Amino acid sequence: MRRVVIIGGGAIGSAIAYFLTRDPEGEPFEVTVVERDFSYRQASSALSASSIRQQFSTAINIGMSRYGIDFFRALGETLRVGDDVPDIGLVEPGYLYLASPTGVDVLRENHAMQKAHAVDVVLMTPGELKARFPWISTEGVALASLGLSGEGWYDGYSVLQAFRRKAALQGARYLQAHATGLQCEGCSVKGVQLEDGRVLAADVVVNAAGAWAAKVASWAGIDLPVRGRRRSVFSFSCPEALPGCPLLIDTSGIWLRPEGRQFICGFAPAEQDDPDDAPLDVEYEAFERRVWPALAERIPAFEAVRMTGAWAGYYEMNVFDHNAILGLHPGCDNLYFANGFSGHGLQQCPAAGRGVAELIRFGAYRSLDLSPLSFARILENRPLLEKNVI
Ligand SMILES: Cc1cc2nc3c(=O)[nH]c(=O)nc-3n(C[C@H](O)[C@H](O)[C@H](O)COP(=O)(O)OP(=O)(O)OC[C@H]3O[C@@H](n4cnc5c(N)ncnc54)[C@H](O)[C@@H]3O)c2cc1C
Repeated sequence: MRRVVIIGGGAIGSAIAYFLTRDPEGEPFEVTVVERDFSYRQASSALSASSIRQQFSTAINIGMSRYGIDFFRALGETLRVGDDVPDIGLVEPGYLYLASPTGVDVLRENHAMQKAHAVDVVLMTPGELKARFPWISTEGVALASLGLSGEGWYDGYSVLQAFRRKAALQGARYLQAHATGLQCEGCSVKGVQLEDGRVLAADVVVNAAGAWAAKVASWAGIDLPVRGRRRSVFSFSCPEALPGCPLLIDTSGIWLRPEGRQFICGFAPAEQDDPDDAPLDVEYEAFERRVWPALAERIPAFEAVRMTGAWAGYYEMNVFDHNAILGLHPGCDNLYFANGFSGHGLQQCPAAGRGVAELIRFGAYRSLDLSPLSFARILENRPLLEKNVI
């Protein structure tokens, strides 16, 4: 029986463990998931905005999110454990992208691409926008794009736990331990070293270490272009309701969505203010200086908001092209990567989990072809450009 060791038991590692152990007819694997912190205090899967969209600019990301929404809709039954039917609280009010005059061409190009892939999306003029969402100011908006189905949000931590519980029921072993090295012989990894001195013998190793994945890759002498990039999320309440509020991406790049009776929002720092692996301290000052003023301009009701909480987590940013890196490293015959999701990994965890499990089992993708996300594109300097990164 092939021994698979997965380093990192977040949503990605747990989805891979689930798909590897799911098929009772197929080759059985002995799956061990090494996770250093069972409380997931710093894991991105627990600190995520946990949203899903179809409005990408590349076919591969659209394909992954399409599988993601189908999986999330059926997740309760698919990942049920006896009477425990997980509820991830999925709602689908859509994503609303606002474009300024300079952003119109890109929005139209993305729209054409999305329609060609049967994404349920519509372009709206400022007048149509105002008629549908009377609480919005259309100042500076030239065109908008609204997803009509398949887009919304859910509880990311529940997704991670549901995958984990089901994988464990199917036989995956979760080991609370800190991986500190790989034992390599030539092009093969033979074992995973743990901080307590133990070595886990392995036939296959998967790097699912999120924002810490570059460290794991370095143990095999591989340069993985993934860095932890801090993202702050602020929650606030507003006395006024905003009926039908979708996840809104403002012309300023600031995003916002309802969370229960409140709202959460965030922003992408400018490149020069976005260092690698910054401590997870919330950037409160950015809320006052940048985020709140922009939101209050877009939604006048937000002049009277009260901040109710905030947190910060890492995007596991692929600094090469802001997309996932999946599969074997060409220079190593049994080290698989599932990294670099750059802010869209939770919605992609079902597709990535299924795809990496197929690669390990069959040596090829069987359902969705994820080869555009291979490590080879980095070595060959062929970036996969996704224009819609939030
Ligand atoms: C603020 C924020 C908002 C986001 N919003 C969205 C969104 O709306 N939609 C979306 O799809 N995605 C979003 N994301 C991205 C998404 O959350 C991540 O892409 C996804 O959770 C990555 O999952 P993961 O399992 O790879 O990483 P993680 O959840 O971080 O799991 C990696 C695990 O590896 C463990 N680990 C690392 N190194 C070791 C080691 N050496 N030994 C043992 N264990 C180790 C860590 O403890 C961790 O638990 C957001 C992320 C953030 C931070």
